[in-house]
Amino acid sequence: MICPNCHNENRYDALTCDFCMAKLPMTTKRQKEIKQRQKLEKKNKLSKSITKLLGLLLGLVVIILIIVVVYLIRK
Ligand SMILES: [Zn+2]
Repeated sequence: MICPNCHNENRYDALTCDFCMAKLPMTTKRQKEIKQRQKLEKKNKLSKSITKLLGLLLGLVVIILIIVVVYLIRK
């Protein structure tokens, strides 16, 4: 969100300008955009945590496989 007063670039959901503290205009169009971006951020967070979980599971499976292979070789 670019401030109409000083043209400082602010966060997309900022209510006031970080630089000159002027109130940023809150149009319905902006509100919709903010909602959409917040939804997108939530989705991104979820997919990131799922990827982390999958990585963890994969690591666990590899460790179990190694243990099984070592056990079978020793037999
Ligand atoms: Zn400003």
